[in-house]
Amino acid sequence: MKILLIVAILTSMAFSKVEVAVSYKYIEDITKNIAGDLVEIETLAKPKEDPHFVMARPSLISKLRNVDLLILNGGQLEIGWLPPLIKRANNAKIFDGAGGFLDLSQHINMLDVHSSVSRADGDVHPDGNPHFILDPYNVPIIAKAIADKLSKIDSSNKETYQKNYEAFTAKWDKNLIAWGEKMKPFKGKKVIQYHKSFDYFLKRYKMELLDTIEPLPGISPTSKHIMELISKIKEEKAALLIMHDVYHNRKAAKLISAKTELKIIDVPHDVDALQGADSIENFYNSIINGLTK
Ligand SMILES: [Zn+2]
Repeated sequence: MKILLIVAILTSMAFSKVEVAVSYKYIEDITKNIAGDLVEIETLAKPKEDPHFVMARPSLISKLRNVDLLILNGGQLEIGWLPPLIKRANNAKIFDGAGGFLDLSQHINMLDVHSSVSRADGDVHPDGNPHFILDPYNVPIIAKAIADKLSKIDSSNKETYQKNYEAFTAKWDKNLIAWGEKMKPFKGKKVIQYHKSFDYFLKRYKMELLDTIEPLPGISPTSKHIMELISKIKEEKAALLIMHDVYHNRKAAKLISAKTELKIIDVPHDVDALQGADSIENFYNSIINGLTK
């Protein structure tokens, strides 16, 4: 009887998958590359949703209740919606600091750390810019953090996670070279964006940010700021374009575009935010092709 029970437990262990919840689709895709069928993934945010203000649907609480691991972007990107869900799910495995909690921002060199004007002004990113997924060079760092965490939680499959990580990064390195070539003509090009969504991308490819449409991260544009922006654009001699995310209101961008003839280019902020951006690889393909077409 005892032996049968042990066999039953071992069998269930051998076939049970690691249950993972991730905040965003891009994390799901990188995790799938590392873990394949060894994990079951629940993704909390919808890809076209504003990543700062995800609708806290009750179904998200049940998704968190039984998972072994929670992987989040961190850097306060989820601060407005995820902490109450974690609290209500009451799953000790995924509490901040527990073994099943992975905050990716902890592994990244973040931009704008401590440079923010003032928390009192309503800046949604007082601790630095959390939109680091826009730099494709951060992907191998994220993949490594995920592979290492899964190797700890599910040590019997450690070799598979590490092997998959190596294969993934070898392929990724080739992409980085190809994307670098394609982006060369954009060096020095000046850009307007709604929010500081694409700073990592701009920095990586040596593009410049002329200004954001919102006066401060998380603050809606005022007509004064838009007027100033329009005159600033008119003074600029350099080639300009507006890179716009899919979730902020476009009224201001359209007005600016109408007054200055700047082109608005749609840029995904997450995997599946735009058609064609259906994997972590195609996420960058879609951004770069959108710019270069
Ligand atoms: Zn933001």
